[in-house]
Amino acid sequence: MKTTYLEPEKGNYTLKNVLLETGFIWKEDYIEGTQTEQFCIEIKNGKIDTISPNNPQLPDAIDAKGLLMLPAFKDMHTHLDKTLYGLPWQAISPKRKTVADMIAYEQQIIPKLLETSVHRTGLLIDLLQNYGTSFARSHFNVDTTSGLRSLENLQIALNNKKESFSTELVAFPQHGLYYTDSAPLMREVAKMDCVDFIGGLDPYGIDKNIEKVIDFTVQLALDNNKGIDIHLHDLGKEGKYTIEYLIQKVKENPQLQNKTFVSHAYVLAYLEQNEVDEISEKLAEAKVGIISAIPYRDKKMPIARLIDKGVDVLVGNDNIQDYWSTLGTGNILQKANLIAELYAWETEYDLSRTLRFATNNILPLDNKGNMQWPKKGDKAEFTLINASCSAEAVSRISPAVAFAHDGNLYWKRREILV
Ligand SMILES: [Zn+2]
Repeated sequence: MKTTYLEPEKGNYTLKNVLLETGFIWKEDYIEGTQTEQFCIEIKNGKIDTISPNNPQLPDAIDAKGLLMLPAFKDMHTHLDKTLYGLPWQAISPKRKTVADMIAYEQQIIPKLLETSVHRTGLLIDLLQNYGTSFARSHFNVDTTSGLRSLENLQIALNNKKESFSTELVAFPQHGLYYTDSAPLMREVAKMDCVDFIGGLDPYGIDKNIEKVIDFTVQLALDNNKGIDIHLHDLGKEGKYTIEYLIQKVKENPQLQNKTFVSHAYVLAYLEQNEVDEISEKLAEAKVGIISAIPYRDKKMPIARLIDKGVDVLVGNDNIQDYWSTLGTGNILQKANLIAELYAWETEYDLSRTLRFATNNILPLDNKGNMQWPKKGDKAEFTLINASCSAEAVSRISPAVAFAHDGNLYWKRREILV
């Protein structure tokens, strides 16, 4: 499949007619709109060098045609290594109900999937880029069936895209550390420079020993100077205790603060308000983040409460057409839209704040409406989108038209502009 973008503009160049947000428009005591202006932006050596008043006549400048520049779109939870994307449509099976069922299924199908995973990972990255995303945190399987082949194939696919896409990688013991004997493999991959986080999976539900699994994970992260990002589907008192025990370990080892995350943490959706408040305060104090794909069955994750309490909440698509789920679209702006709808964040102000879920918390305006992005010296990493402001982009799920990664600017081909 051909790339969905034209050959990039590289090196040093100037963009003209770039729309940036410059403030909020107040009416009496509320924010009625977002103020914007067009600018010229000069890119040098992959960085934003100058932001100057617009000059539509500037010769040799690239015309951004009034498109809105937003911070680079980032998907903070994906599995780029094991997609079914690129294969014929297949809905998930009603027969596989538990994580253990899924592990048994993966043991059957992984050898076959690995034969073509490099190609399909490339297609999946094309899909993300089509929506303007140029960065993902991707988990990759470390299990006794895959060995290190999931990582090896992922690295080939990522290398093919290295100029336009970057990642953080999470070593993910998808089949349990001890449920299958994956701990030795985890020790091996933890030493690798390409690995940023030590992953995990349901210490109680799969390995039946919360302390043993968390202790191993924390020690591996400390020994290799990595972060932690564990999947937690476990509910009830075990799910809650897993989060609390991890928080305790991070407090004992402050070097893990700001780089420890719990992905999913569905148990939070079942807690009483006072319990949510209590655990949110502990998460915020220990600087442990939550990563969510947002909807969870008929429950609602307490996203608003977590944020109010100061917890770092990141968002990802998670499964994009695979055998766990087919409902991830790959469009991180669509996730922000879904959040706005679920939590009724519909005012100009609320919508503009909701963009943070597509940009890993970077927003053009601060909460008071002061310009805070882009700034001279920032990496030239942004998305150009067909919208008048962030609030409209979130509400309309406006189409990305171009993106810059490490200064390289990619325009979408005209025939796929939507
Ligand atoms: Zn996941």
